[in-house]
Amino acid sequence: MTLQRITKPEVTPKRVTILGSTGSIGANTVELIVENPEAYVVEALTAKTNVLLLAEQARKLNARLAVIGDSDLYGDLKVALAGSGIEVAAGKAALVDAATRPSDWVMAAIVGAAGLAPTLAAIRRGCTVGLANKECLVCAGDVMVEEVQKSGATLLPVDSEHNAIFQVFDMDQSAAVEKITLTASGGPFREMNYQSMAKVTPEQAVAHPNWDMGAKISVDSATMMNKGLELIEAYYLFPVEKDQIDILVHPQSIIHSMVSYIDGSVLAQLGAPDMRTPIAHTLGWPERISAPSPRLDLGAIGELTFEAPDLKRFPALQLARQSLQSGGSTPTILNAANEVAVAGFLGGKIDFLNISRVVEKTLEHLAAPELRGLEDVFEVDAAARRHAAELV
Ligand code: NAD
Ligand code: MG
Repeated sequence: MTLQRITKPEVTPKRVTILGSTGSIGANTVELIVENPEAYVVEALTAKTNVLLLAEQARKLNARLAVIGDSDLYGDLKVALAGSGIEVAAGKAALVDAATRPSDWVMAAIVGAAGLAPTLAAIRRGCTVGLANKECLVCAGDVMVEEVQKSGATLLPVDSEHNAIFQVFDMDQSAAVEKITLTASGGPFREMNYQSMAKVTPEQAVAHPNWDMGAKISVDSATMMNKGLELIEAYYLFPVEKDQIDILVHPQSIIHSMVSYIDGSVLAQLGAPDMRTPIAHTLGWPERISAPSPRLDLGAIGELTFEAPDLKRFPALQLARQSLQSGGSTPTILNAANEVAVAGFLGGKIDFLNISRVVEKTLEHLAAPELRGLEDVFEVDAAARRHAAELV
């Protein structure tokens, strides 16, 4: 018997770019890369204003380029990276350039429609995009899908629900899928009565019971607009009809979503509520890589519970469902108005219940033309922002 010498196959490192590296998703992505240094080479990192963290990440990952969105901060970033040999750039166009630079994989983790242009730039290169920035698909779903088809880019969902569905959705048998079910934690105000919600503070709204996330998505989770945005996101990511997407409240956030098939089978993906798992799934894809997320201990959890969402207390869900049904630029208006209203709430200008009211009034006020391309998206987005800002 001869013993064969087993040598590790040589791996070419994946070249990666992180758009929004200083945020919650971005920092988790950085952490996964730091833990697998041989597997990745970092092309570019971007942030809006956090110069110090961006510079620290760029040095740690030996990135080629660091971009700060706010052009006034160019000098600060230059100073922070002096002597490192890392290229520095600033401004909106530089964010798009960062996404355009050659890389195999791009994490799209800018929050809001601000991420649309850089994310599209990555898609147009035909690379693999880990999509966390759901607002892109909500405000420009048809445009994004068309660009993905043209370039042959691969869009991998990072959002935990969509990542779960991606893991259990049999793309070869999409006709055998009866429905998909997005689970929702219900947010911090799941059990609060409607009147009391008028008095909640931004601090209470961003304190999510299960997930540690950026401020905007945390408020979206509290109004449940997040699940509404995810409904629209799911429609663009998976080959299902609008009425084949259900929402189910599951307060423990253990089952991340489910796919039901015509034979009665229901396939789900489970895990601890930790974004490092779905991020790792897209970073390693098509292989699996390890992630330091806590391991699921169902015995300790004991009970998984479910309830129907309350559309009366969480009107954002209805607004999103109606926007998806109406189509055209209605979701663009919904998203833009929501971004302005959430910023207004976080800035102390409106109360929590007015977030959905601002969105509803903006949807009522504006006509929703068909979107012929990206220019139309930007135009409708700007008009909706102007109207919502007046209401706020
Ligand atoms: P965050 O606020 O923590 O981070 C946002 C990042 O985008 C930061 O790096 C910030 O510098 C950058 N950014 C913000 N505005 C910008 C602008 N105008 N120009 C350029 N860069 C800008 O947000 P997050 O929680 O990491 O969420 C990022 C995206 O991922 C959102 O679309 C969110 O809905 C989605 N998402 C997040 C989670 C989560 O657990 N945090 C889960 C699912 C999906
Ligand atoms: Mg989600």
